[in-house]
This record gives sequence, structure tokens and C-alpha cells, in this order.
Amino acid sequence: MTENTARSGKDTILVIGGGIAGITAALEAAEVGCNVILVEKEAYLGGRVVRMNQYFPKLCPPTCGLEINYQRIRKNPRIKVLTLSEVSKVAGQKGNFNVTIRIHPRYVTGNAPISRAQLDAISSEIPNDFNSGMDRTRALYMPHDQAFPHLHVLARYALTSEEISRLEETEPREAIDLSAGAETLDVNVAAIIVATGWQPYDANNLDLLGYSSNADVITNIEMERLAARTGPTGGKIIRPSDGREPARVAFVQCAGSRDANNLPYCSAVCCMASLKQARYLRNKLPDASISIFYIDIRTIGRHEEFYYQLLADDHVSFVKGKVARITPEASNLVLDVEDTLGGKLLQESFDLVVLATGVVPNQARHPLPGLDITTDEYGFIVEGVVRNGIYAAGCACRPTDVSRSVKDATAAALRAIQDVRR
Ligand SMILES: Cc1cc2nc3c(=O)[nH]c(=O)nc-3n(C[C@H](O)[C@H](O)[C@H](O)COP(=O)(O)OP(=O)(O)OC[C@H]3O[C@@H](n4cnc5c(N)ncnc54)[C@H](O)[C@@H]3O)c2cc1C
Repeated sequence: MTENTARSGKDTILVIGGGIAGITAALEAAEVGCNVILVEKEAYLGGRVVRMNQYFPKLCPPTCGLEINYQRIRKNPRIKVLTLSEVSKVAGQKGNFNVTIRIHPRYVTGNAPISRAQLDAISSEIPNDFNSGMDRTRALYMPHDQAFPHLHVLARYALTSEEISRLEETEPREAIDLSAGAETLDVNVAAIIVATGWQPYDANNLDLLGYSSNADVITNIEMERLAARTGPTGGKIIRPSDGREPARVAFVQCAGSRDANNLPYCSAVCCMASLKQARYLRNKLPDASISIFYIDIRTIGRHEEFYYQLLADDHVSFVKGKVARITPEASNLVLDVEDTLGGKLLQESFDLVVLATGVVPNQARHPLPGLDITTDEYGFIVEGVVRNGIYAAGCACRPTDVSRSVKDATAAALRAIQDVRR
């Protein structure tokens, strides 16, 4: 939680979700004088974007854009950021919503920095969620280098009784509150912006693509972390199974997407994500050869140029055809695919396979309690005014990129500001 204070009431907007869409909406509203409560369920802001290595189209690190936003939040006393928090109840209507927020304990108070001795008091580990569980972290941890707020988190549930005793005796004692419990906060707000974003489609559902049985079949989300300097390998793209640099890498587009048995829709960003990741490989492993298996390459507008550059690269080949099966063979992975342009069945062997899995709305998996909002058949919130006084932005509405999420968020903020001003 930040030290910022904000009043609730008729000039207050609640933003649910602290990804790029929620952050943008919060800033737009606060910078014209509204009070904003920004509720984020994770321990830090930034959503999915902060976990990327670089983001298209410019391929800058996500912290470039996010850090400017964090500075704007730090300077703006009208924004109250609540992390590790979720909305548990909403009642009322436009201009007068009563909302209950549940705040989970961080156990780290922020009243003093965590000391070396406190870090050393803990050896229990938990899966590192920031790195998609590809490595582990100590149970007293900073979620990532650039985390905002820049506070450690204590996974108290994972501690042994000896570790708890050691922490109780270690200075500075005011840095950790082992007796902290969940709190509830009741607020009154005039408007609500839902920016709860997305989660990746579960690749374990794709039996024939072998994600659950082959360590060297990874998802596009895991590739972002593998390529990142702050990731589990320090930015080295290596095979999870044996730590070897891959010489042949395949990208499987529409892994589960545009498929009636999985996600029937196109997730819009996966083609650009794979093209971007092919660039990571070209930079980090210049001798590797890359094959991209696709149904259609969908790169809209100015992103088309990005595609053309890779088309001209003789280390990258594009094969039009949906991958039917991935089978392990010796230490490699064999892909069965019908090359629909070449008119032949292919069996090709690779060292590493990246599944371009799609985007599932969080709202579909975890509907917000008390918010009677209209979603489409897949759980995306129907765009525009969701209900009087409730608006939505970003990937909560549809799979989309950062630039469009930001535009959406600005539009949602404008509508919410109008509710406050009326
Ligand atoms: C593999 C891949 C690579 C991509 N690369 C790029 C790229 O290079 N460039 C680009 O422009 N786009 C890229 N995208 C798209 C980009 O990730 C999205 O545009 C962006 O994440 C949308 O932001 P958002 O704020 O709507 O959602 P999110 O980033 O998902 O943020 C939503 C936030 O809401 C929080 N939340 C969820 N539910 C709740 C709740 N109930 N209560 C409180 N908080 C909640 C979440 O914890 C999260 O912090 C990529 C997508 C994929 C799949």
C-alpha cells in the first residue's frame, strides 16, 4: 500500500486492475482532479506488461513506459494504490457505489527496510510467480527488480516454525508484522473502471502439443521470461531440459486459438508476440534457425513492417499449416504439420518449441462479485459503457496490445470523470 491518501465519495473513481490499462485510467482521472482508488490483486503494479522482456513495436523494456507512470503516481496524492487487494462486494448505482475491498497481508510494513539478517533468516522457497514458476524464490522476496511499490513480500504460509522464531528476533523488528491479517475497507465511489486484463490460455489443455510432458515445449509467456535479463536464466535462451542453447526453434501459432475445442477466437497479439520473440532469438542466438508455423499471420497496421523484416531474414522460415502433434524423439521434438502452401505433410525436428497460446479474460475465470456486467460468450466485457457508472478497458474487453489498451483506458477515464463532474 502506498502512503498516498485519498478520500472516498462523490469525487472518487475506483479502478480495478493495476495493469497498463488500469494505471492509465487512474492517472488520467487523478490528473484532472478526481480521487482514485486503484485496486490490484498482485503485490505490484504493471500487470502482464511488466513481465515482458521487451514490447513491440519499439522493443523497449516495459519499465521505460511504466517507470514514468509510477513517477506520476508517486507525485499524485489523489491516487491511493491498494496492492494484494480485491473487490469483494459492490452495491449501489452510478454516482453512489458502496464497495468493500479485501486487503491481504504483505507482512512487510514498509516502516523500515528489510535487513540482510532478515533475508538470511529464511531459506524456504516458493515458485517464482514473476518468472512463470520457471524458478524459485525465497519466501521473503522482492517480486522483481522494478517492483512498484518497491516492497518485499513475505509468503508466511511457507515458513517453518524455526524461521518464524528467527524472524521474530531479527532487527529491524518494525519492518515485519507477523501477526498481520486480512483487512477490509469500505469505500464509496461515483464510478468504477474494470481493467482486470487477461491470463494465458492453459497449455496443459493441449494434449497433442506435449506441453505438460516435454520441458522443451514452452509457452510464449515463458519465452518472455527466458529472454529477460531479470528472468530465470539471466536472459540466456536455453533449453529447460539440459541448459543447451537451441539450434532450431519452432513457434507454433494459434496453439489452442481459433479452435472450437479450446479458444474459438483469435487472440490478436500472438502473431506479433512470436515475431518479436523471433527477434530476441536472432539477437541472442544469431546462428539459430527459426520456423514459424501459422494459419494466417495477423499483423495489423504499422506492425506489418515488422513482419516483412522477418520475411526477408534467411534464418527465419514461415510455414503455413497448423501443427497437429509434437512428439519427443531422442533429445529433440518432432512436429507433424501439413504445409498447406507446399501441399505436403512435414515432420520436422526442433530443439525448442514455443507455443503461442492465447488470451483469456480474467473476468471469465474470476467474475467480480456484485458487478452485473455484460460479457460476450468468451467472458470479455462488452465494450463501452458496461452499465451505468461502470466502464471497462484493455484486455478485459478484448485481446489487444498496449497501445490500444492505453487508448481504451483514456476513454473509460473520460466517461468516469463525467460521472464525477455531473
Ligand atoms: C505473449 C504475449 C506478448 C505480448 N507482447 C506485447 C508487446 O510486445 N506489445 C504490446 O503492445 N502488447 C503485447 N501483448 C499484449 C499485452 O500484454 C496487453 O495489451 C496488456 O497486458 C493489456 O493490459 P491490461 O492492463 O488490459 O491487462 P493486464 O496486463 O492483464 O493487467 C490487468 C491487471 O489486473 C489485475 N487484476 C486481475 N483481476 C483482478 C481483480 N479481480 N482485482 C484486482 N486486480 C485484478 C491483474 O493482476 C493485472 O495486474 C502481449 C501479449 C502476449 C500474450
